[in-house]
Amino acid sequence: MLKMTNIKKVFRTEVVETHALRDFSLHVKEGDFVAVTGPSGSGKTTFLNVAGLLETFDEGDYLLDGQSVKGMSDNQLARMRNEKIGFIFQSFNLLPDLNLFDNVDVPLRYRGFNAKERKERIVQALETVGLGSRMKHLPAQLSGGQQQRVAIARALAGEPRFLLADEPTGNLDSAMAQSVLELLEDINKAGTTIIMVTHDPILAKRAGRNVFVRDGQVTEVTKEAELDELVQKTAQVGG
Ligand code: ADP
Repeated sequence: MLKMTNIKKVFRTEVVETHALRDFSLHVKEGDFVAVTGPSGSGKTTFLNVAGLLETFDEGDYLLDGQSVKGMSDNQLARMRNEKIGFIFQSFNLLPDLNLFDNVDVPLRYRGFNAKERKERIVQALETVGLGSRMKHLPAQLSGGQQQRVAIARALAGEPRFLLADEPTGNLDSAMAQSVLELLEDINKAGTTIIMVTHDPILAKRAGRNVFVRDGQVTEVTKEAELDELVQKTAQVGG
């Protein structure tokens, strides 16, 4: 489904080289809900960006739905990204001047769906996240949790196979965070594979699978106690 093997990613500037991912290997199967934790600067966002085809890599192999992404042109990568992947960010990234309907419409227009199909997808996605009655509202008229739901609807409307979420609850209080997580759990149960970066071990533990990233490498966490231990050990480093 999503298989990374020995991925290496180096950021280079004139003065410094940062090895963001080194020998990063992860196999995510269809239907998985993977939570990714780890100290800040460990490579979590870089991993998500490589997984989401927003960032290239220097070495290793990456198979997405059985297709190697190595050597694909920018156009091929963009098509694959638009068809298969939905993104959710900590800061929601909604357009403030557009109502909810139009916000969800943006990526659908870009993909060239006709008006009827777009409308069906938008209404269904907003209903799935519980905002079907607010389509004409502006983002600023909603709570943070509701705004994140709109961002989730926008991702879902593209019917992605994979939902990649970077700290999706990072800007929310704990009640809203819980409710967004419950929504993601429902979406996962309905068949979408989810990879979520979170610094919150309590939320992470609710995912079916936990992995821990440190120094650009990933460890599978099989026991809850192990995650606590890893988080504590690296707490001094931050994040
Ligand atoms: P995390 O998400 O775990 O906080 P990141 O993936 O953002 O970690 O960063 C991993 C490392 O790569 C860090 O040292 C960071 O400074 C570096 N890095 C990330 N993006 C860039 C970039 N665009 N240019 C240079 N260095 C980067």
